[in-house]
Amino acid sequence: MREASETLFDNICPSCGVGNPSDASNCIVCDRDLSETVLFLEDAFFDLELTQDELVEYKKNFYRTRRTGKVVRYTLKDMEDVEFGHPVKRFIFEYHGERVVLPLEEGNYERLKETLEALGIKFRNFE
Ligand SMILES: [Zn+2]
Repeated sequence: MREASETLFDNICPSCGVGNPSDASNCIVCDRDLSETVLFLEDAFFDLELTQDELVEYKKNFYRTRRTGKVVRYTLKDMEDVEFGHPVKRFIFEYHGERVVLPLEEGNYERLKETLEALGIKFRNFE
């Protein structure tokens, strides 16, 4: 059982990965503004951050234990042909002429779909 007064450090900083108090406005380690983040997902091959304007992919190493330092940014308004794959859980879109395929764990897949829907992003859904 948790004490009611215990602070939850469940507000993960997308930039450095440190857990912050859920009500923190800036990261306690790197001072990053945490209010920009609409959704943050830790998945097998990458961490994904969604803001109002972009999707940010923080790539992880082969062993999935830490990030490689490679960060890919996708501007939401430049994402085309967005779809959620079926039966394998994948998030797919065209970006500047290239097809991007991001395999997602089930829970993350559902959360990303719900959040994009709430942001008014149009996508195809084959379920
Ligand atoms: Zn941080």
